[in-house]
Amino acid sequence: MSDKDRTLTTAFGIPVGDDQNSLTAGPRGPILMQDAHLLEKLAHFDRERIPERVVHAKGAGAYGYFEVTADVTQWTKAKFLSSVGKRTEVFARFSTVGGEKGSADAARDPRGFAVKFYTEEGNYDFVGNNTPVFFIRDPLKFPDFIHTQKRHPATNCPDPDMFWDFLSLTPESIHQVTILFSDRGTPATYRHMNGYSSHTYKWYNARGEYFWVQYHFKTDQGIKNLTRQQAQALKGSDPDHATRDLHQAIAKGDFPSWTLEMQILTPEQARDFKWDITDITKVWPHAEVPPIKIGKLVLDRNPVNYFAEVEQAAFCPGNLVPGIAISPDKMLQARVFSYHDTHLHRLGPNYHLIPVNRPKGRPETSYQRDGFMRTDDGGGSGPNYWPNSFGGPGPDPAAKEPSIPLEGEADRYAYSFPNDDFVQPGNLYRQVMTETDRANLVGNIVDHLGGAQKRIQLRQTAIFYKADPDYGTRVAQGLGLDLAEVKRLATLSQEERAAATAA
Ligand code: NDP
Repeated sequence: MSDKDRTLTTAFGIPVGDDQNSLTAGPRGPILMQDAHLLEKLAHFDRERIPERVVHAKGAGAYGYFEVTADVTQWTKAKFLSSVGKRTEVFARFSTVGGEKGSADAARDPRGFAVKFYTEEGNYDFVGNNTPVFFIRDPLKFPDFIHTQKRHPATNCPDPDMFWDFLSLTPESIHQVTILFSDRGTPATYRHMNGYSSHTYKWYNARGEYFWVQYHFKTDQGIKNLTRQQAQALKGSDPDHATRDLHQAIAKGDFPSWTLEMQILTPEQARDFKWDITDITKVWPHAEVPPIKIGKLVLDRNPVNYFAEVEQAAFCPGNLVPGIAISPDKMLQARVFSYHDTHLHRLGPNYHLIPVNRPKGRPETSYQRDGFMRTDDGGGSGPNYWPNSFGGPGPDPAAKEPSIPLEGEADRYAYSFPNDDFVQPGNLYRQVMTETDRANLVGNIVDHLGGAQKRIQLRQTAIFYKADPDYGTRVAQGLGLDLAEVKRLATLSQEERAAATAA
């Protein structure tokens, strides 16, 4: 920094003579309107905050790279995945979901797991979670669901009644509820959790053949979780523990990494698959679709400025490069709209020009023009329409994705595929969890559900019972519920159960 650079200036580079005393009429007089430095400083301060994300508001991020470790060209033509050993720069952001920007990192909540790949074909955004499934499978339910996870409209406090009322009236949530209330709902740090696409995506190769895929970023640090008691203590003593942990690990050279494993199905396999592959409340059992290791994600550089690089980082599941496309998962389709829409609201129409969001490997050559905060030359004097005969950029047919067969009558359909919502969470409880996992799961549920009204406790516990009788029985015992009533409610249809437990 030169001596000249050390001089304090206004935002417009004008040297400031005094930054301690406002301009006043006499030594004891009022401030004069002409103190432009004071007015500018206060006005900018008043605008320091931007709208926080409605979900995933609290997060931490870092830069690094992704390295390909296996040949995947038979499934995708994405250039950043085109050869073993190829590296692509990335920026990753991890987050909690429901809490505000100042909330505690140890909250029981899914964790966001987003990775921006700065590829030579533009930015590819992977926007996943640390859970392989989700609570709901139709985006019409999303705003209602999120409201129940946040604050009560009257008390402005989290509310167990609305939390469990919605979930118990939405039994498709039972799989994700079981994972959320296991100790995986409170990961020890962002480094000690996996990241899953949860959704199914489409990969397609250079021959135009397509495949359905799911992503699993498996932590190389090992899964490590907090117990309810540990999480409760950390929320008070160190609400930023995971944010600090990520920063400190990278600062001292202990770079976290994840191994990317893919589950891949051909369209033919998908057609005959036992589970609806676009139902985000279901996983693809490993035994039936063995994951294939294909790469490594390493984070090795901290951001310098949190606001510029992490708060303004903007991901959208619709940012896909040739070789990768979306699937007919309704939740995914709605996210393609909602993420971009959120960033337009938070950051403005030119958020793609913010350095962390800017495509680094392949610059933008579009006809989008103008708008607030257009900070580059805005396309200069080049044509601003297509088609044109002045040598402007044109579409490349090679970037088109292969078609998929779709047909049907326009209507509002409930999921009718023969999908049982209770088998997979039951298998998780019976076959995957250890006895300690099960005991902690039941304890975590009892601790939280115990705050809800008795009728809601009964309705939700019947759903646990439907997933597994031992699961439901232990929750009923923990809550002191009438087990016979839980069993009776478990035999009813969802509509009958809702009617039997109405207010
Ligand atoms: P597997 O036995 O092959 O896989 C079970 C997987 O469950 C493990 O690989 C691990 O996933 C994950 N897991 C282990 N402990 C827990 C826990 N306490 N809470 C949540 N997940 C845990 O069985 P399936 O593939 O047949 O799946 C059985 C159940 O396992 C599923 O219903 C699902 O709930 C859960 N699961 C399945 C995943 C999948 O994609 N098939 C992914 C994650 C969970 P990981 O190796 O990813 O850590």
